[in-house]
Amino acid sequence: MNDIIQLLPDAIANQIAAGEVVQRPASALKELLENAVDAGGTQIQVLVKEAGKMLIQVIDNGKGMSMTDARMSFERHATSKIRTSEDLFAIRTFGFRGEALASIAAVAQVEMKTRQKGEELGTSIHIEGSEVKKQELTSCPEGTNIAVKNLFFNVPARRNFLKSNPVEMRHLVEEFQRVALSYPEVGFSFKQHDMELFNLNPGKLSQRIVGLFGKSYQGQLVACLEETPHLNVKGYIGKPEHAKKTRGEQFFFVNNRYIKSSYLHHAVTHAFEGLMSSEMHPFYVLFLEIEPSHIDINVHPTKTEIKFDDERTVYAVVRSAVKQALGAHNVVPTLDFSLDVNFAENWKYNIEDQKEIGRENAFRPDDPGQENKYKTFQSSSFQRKSVSGWEQLFEGNVGLPEIEEERKEDIDFLTFSSKASENSSKLGLEFPAPSERTGLTFQVDLNYIVAQMSSGLLIIEQQAAHERILYERYIRQLGQASGVSQQCLFPPHIQLSAADFALVMDIKEELQSLGFVLTEFGKDTLLIQGVPADIQVTNEKSLFEGLLEQYKHFKSELSLDKRESLARSLARKSSIKKGNRLDTSEMETIVGQLFACKNPNYGLSGNKTFIKLDVQKIQSFFIR
Ligand code: ADP
Ligand code: MG
Repeated sequence: MNDIIQLLPDAIANQIAAGEVVQRPASALKELLENAVDAGGTQIQVLVKEAGKMLIQVIDNGKGMSMTDARMSFERHATSKIRTSEDLFAIRTFGFRGEALASIAAVAQVEMKTRQKGEELGTSIHIEGSEVKKQELTSCPEGTNIAVKNLFFNVPARRNFLKSNPVEMRHLVEEFQRVALSYPEVGFSFKQHDMELFNLNPGKLSQRIVGLFGKSYQGQLVACLEETPHLNVKGYIGKPEHAKKTRGEQFFFVNNRYIKSSYLHHAVTHAFEGLMSSEMHPFYVLFLEIEPSHIDINVHPTKTEIKFDDERTVYAVVRSAVKQALGAHNVVPTLDFSLDVNFAENWKYNIEDQKEIGRENAFRPDDPGQENKYKTFQSSSFQRKSVSGWEQLFEGNVGLPEIEEERKEDIDFLTFSSKASENSSKLGLEFPAPSERTGLTFQVDLNYIVAQMSSGLLIIEQQAAHERILYERYIRQLGQASGVSQQCLFPPHIQLSAADFALVMDIKEELQSLGFVLTEFGKDTLLIQGVPADIQVTNEKSLFEGLLEQYKHFKSELSLDKRESLARSLARKSSIKKGNRLDTSEMETIVGQLFACKNPNYGLSGNKTFIKLDVQKIQSFFIR
């Protein structure tokens, strides 16, 4: 019988390997860039044509190759980077499989010129579909210049499979960004035909981020640093308000190698919880350093997946690093309920707040002496509903509250950007006295309140600001059970599903603390006898139903605790909205109350409540 098994010719074996290593122009670019960095290049140029389909060229000033190495580098499993299998577990360089050049050369026309430092002449080599067409001595600069032309020229199926130029270009840019981020100390440039897309000077990581993503990232980065015995995390995260609807600006590097990990991504978004709605994606560039023996990067040929031997610890460290960074830079509003426990003692505005909503007249549902008055709804112990919510809100509180010494200190903490620019960015509250403020506060687009300060303008988003004010008030009321009620003239019944009814029963106490007066009225039915006094209600039923909807959303989407969810829900439900017309005293009260908040900077989704246009900024628009 004849033997039928044969070894595949190298060219075919290489082509098969290429199927894994080179899927598209971007994968070739990645390999070439990594080789250039591994070779110690300090200045690396990229040139592409037709989104890499026609040309991908990478030029470095690294150590170059000898004539023999230049030839060897295109052999499969030829590498200078590992020698033993132990080396596999201590990998610090990018490449290590020795497959990339062999694979690329199997499916393209490759021209390489390379010269080692100190050598007079370099080598030029042409390879097409694994076949060496030409090799000769040549004069060329130190380093390596490799041009990959007509990718997949000999694999039409692959070539046809490529996407449109814009799509392939996007992949190229992504790969470029990843390598450029992990080597900020290396200069990079990137040209498409004659157009320069990037020109990045060597520098710090923050400069590299700005170089890649644009000037708008400058004030938006928060440094992140956490060091533990086995794992370090460092890098930058974007502030919550800078988060985007689309993904793509999230980068993890493990020992400087870009990796994808939905598990670690979750650790980051978890740390942002409550600061941002769940459909937003925060920017981050995080570098993890870990002993190479604790990871396995060899699970996928394109090497963007990774296994940690202790995944949970890595998760916890990443999350805590991000949380700390957010906290240290005063980005996190006090959403953590535990922080609000002492609110009652510290809060200087209790008395005013209570005055504001007419405490003397108010009905306290938890006051046993008033129990039997449930029946006599018209009783004077209920606050009259004829007073509109707005009037109640502002009663006795027109103009700016006086800021006491202690609060002033707090306000000094409200910086607009990270500590680095602390001095220039303090929010001095330089409002003119209320009497001088006439005409200086106005509304734009029925959405923004513009208030004049001595040093510029303050632009406040009315809904965000009011939500913040109400949220802090409700949290306070929940802590003290101090919410006051207004009577419902025609107490509506509300029929709930069994599940919703159970849910309401679960938060009944909290609802009462806020000022709701609810009584059970048959199966799964409630009677709403009172609602919080400071809310202008036209329809108690829809207020309550809306509140429940919001509550369920916050509770499940953001897994916030009861009080937190409830305070947010009611704030969202009862706040003024875009489109509400405000008069001057209402606007001034919002401004005043906002800055009496513990965390005036951010709304409930981590969105900004206001921006400050100071004189310098205004001047900068008019520079000649
Ligand atoms: P790997 O990077 O996994 O070792 P490659 O096929 O990418 O495999 O490269 C093979 C070898 O060729 C490398 O180990 C390196 O010695 C050499 N090489 C590749 N590119 C360059 C370069 N730009 N400068 C110097 N040497 C290079
Ligand atoms: Mg390589």
